Amino acid sequence: MLLAHGRNLDVIAQVERKRKPRIEADLERTSHAALVAELAERMTEDRHPVEGLFELTTWALDELASDPEPRRAGAFFLGAALELMGYAPQLAECARCGRPLAEVAHAFSAAAGGFLCPNDSDPAEPAVSPAAIKVLRVIFAREVGLYRRLKLSAAIMDEVHDVLADQLEYHLDKRLNSLRFLRRMRGVGRATALPSTAEQGGRPPSERLPS
Ligand SMILES: [Zn+2]
Repeated sequence: MLLAHGRNLDVIAQVERKRKPRIEADLERTSHAALVAELAERMTEDRHPVEGLFELTTWALDELASDPEPRRAGAFFLGAALELMGYAPQLAECARCGRPLAEVAHAFSAAAGGFLCPNDSDPAEPAVSPAAIKVLRVIFAREVGLYRRLKLSAAIMDEVHDVLADQLEYHLDKRLNSLRFLRRMRGVGRATALPSTAEQGGRPPSERLPS
C-alpha cells in the first residue's frame, strides 16, 4: 500500500492485493477475522506505529483462512495483541499477593490483572481449569509451533477465549462489536444444539440431515 501525505488525512495512492489464502464465507471464520480487524484498528492511532502489529494481523488472517479451528488463531491473536498493548495477565503468580500458583484451577480477575490464589479469591467464583491456564502460558510465551500442536477441546478453547476477552474488555474503553457478536453466536449454538437432538428422536447430531 502506498500512502501520500495529505493536508489532514493521508491519501491511499496505490494498493496491491497479495496472493494469500482467502477467508471463505463461513460465519465463524469471518467473525474472528472481523475481531482481528476491529482490534488492530483500535490499537492504532494516526502516525503512531505499533511494532509488530502489521505482521501479527496478517499472520492471524492467514491462519484464519487455513486452520480448521478458527478460534485457535483468534485466541492467539488476542493474546499477542494484549501483550503488545502491555496488558498481558499474570499467569504464574497470584495477581494479588504474588505467590506462585499451584497447578490447579484458579479464578481469573481482569481487575486484579490475572489469576488469583485460593486465599485471594471467592470459592463461589468460576475457576479456570489448569489445562486452559497452561494454554494461556503457551500463548503468552509466543510459542506458536507448540500452540499449533496442542489438542484443544471446545471447552478449553471457550475458557481460553473468555479469559482473553475479559482482559481485553477490561482494558479497552469501548466494547468490541465483533466480540459481542461472537459471544452471541456461541450462546445461540449452545441453545439450539441441545433441544434439537431430542426433537429428532435422540439421534446424534452427526446423523442429522442438513436442512
Ligand atoms: Zn494470592
